[in-house]
Amino acid sequence: MLPLQDGFSRRFYYLRLSVTDVCNFRCTYCLPDGYRPPEGSKEGRNAFLSLDEIRRIVSGFAAMGTRKVRLTGGEPSLRRDFTAIIETVANTPGIEKVAMTTNGYRLKERAQAWFDAGLTALNVSVDSLDPRQFHQITGENKLVEVMEGIAAALAAGFKSVKINAVLLKGLNDHQLDAFLGWIKHKPIELRFIELMQTGEMDTLFRDHHVSGEQIKRRLLESGWAQQLRGKDDGPAQVFMHPGSQGRVGLIMPYSKDFCAGCNRLRVSSAGKLHLCLFGDNGVALRDLLAADNQQDALQQRIRAALAGKSATHRLHEGNAGMTPHLASIGG
Ligand code: SAM
Ligand code: SF4
Repeated sequence: MLPLQDGFSRRFYYLRLSVTDVCNFRCTYCLPDGYRPPEGSKEGRNAFLSLDEIRRIVSGFAAMGTRKVRLTGGEPSLRRDFTAIIETVANTPGIEKVAMTTNGYRLKERAQAWFDAGLTALNVSVDSLDPRQFHQITGENKLVEVMEGIAAALAAGFKSVKINAVLLKGLNDHQLDAFLGWIKHKPIELRFIELMQTGEMDTLFRDHHVSGEQIKRRLLESGWAQQLRGKDDGPAQVFMHPGSQGRVGLIMPYSKDFCAGCNRLRVSSAGKLHLCLFGDNGVALRDLLAADNQQDALQQRIRAALAGKSATHRLHEGNAGMTPHLASIGG
């Protein structure tokens, strides 16, 4: 079976699967007014993929070479059957890595159960190490719980814990030293993500977007060295320092050639295939997920869609595509 490949010879071994679009946080750059069901949605919050549908979609992708699945959302841990989802994905033949992205809510109490169920990697979002500012950015006064959750994850045995921090001018962009001090003796990769413009964002982007280049410059000036990228590495630029156990990753979607390293496809919690975070309306797959005997048709539809993947997003032109916010298709 040929691996998934697009018209620009990019190969796709990595699926990001959103298991719900619901979230309990209100991050200023994502869901500032909290979760609301998408307009026109009759089913509202019950519209997400069932466990069986998840099993079928992951089997279909695994048969076409997918080796890594990231479970995301919304907030994936809000699903009551989340541990069963991890188990199902981890037990799919061909899947070698199961990761999740979480706001850290529930991490403290669930880290061990998720690890035991087969979760191999975790990304936890921490936009500020200052409790008041964390509250201001996320709408929740939960920094202490999230930090306890990260400690619980390391104690549970996770080898790969990454922290996502969205770079926000005037808010956390001057906290680099505090972040670097925090990871100095921890096996953590801290990932600064440039703020991306989405459809529902008003003046926030103009007011708070800052390029990761300034962080890169400061890292290089203080003895951090950029790692060479492997063929199948994602778009992050990664930096190491001899005096730090922790590493730093920069995700700069506005930088030149960002899309050249694209290795991921996305499926939303409503079962739509998205070829790009900032793409179009998505390709419906759900009608092919109701039974086990439609795997061939599912794979054909995915391959046909992939042939139309564009070389690059159009964020540079101020075009954020149809994505209202990243919670809608899984950031
Ligand atoms: N709720 C989980 C969380 O926050 O980790 C998973 C979903 S969230 C959409 C995934 C990641 O996307 C988070 O790290 C979040 O900070 C990031 N994100 C959301 N909106 C963003 C934006 N407009 N620009 C850059 N990153 C964004
Ligand atoms: Fe929720 Fe994650 Fe969006 Fe924050 S970034 S509102 S935690 S989905």
